[in-house]
Amino acid sequence: MLEKHSSKNSSIEKICHDSDCAEKISNLKPEHYNFFKTFTYCPYCAEELMLICQNCKEQLNSTEYKFCPWCGSKFAEINETK
Ligand SMILES: [Zn+2]
Ligand SMILES: [Zn+2]
Repeated sequence: MLEKHSSKNSSIEKICHDSDCAEKISNLKPEHYNFFKTFTYCPYCAEELMLICQNCKEQLNSTEYKFCPWCGSKFAEINETK
């Protein structure tokens, strides 16, 4: 009965509308992908990148979100400082 909707974790991903670019992006190494996530435009076709929730793949319109409005997942902080 005690259901907390903030228990899921996700992160904001950036993806290109173009499926060829999306494939290239998904093949990036993690360290390159972290750098890629700071981009606004696709480096392969210059289209503006789309923000999506990693968990439910729904489109978002802000990187400021702390929770996904579609699935309720909590987003990890982008600027992780250790
Ligand atoms: Zn692209
Ligand atoms: Zn989501």
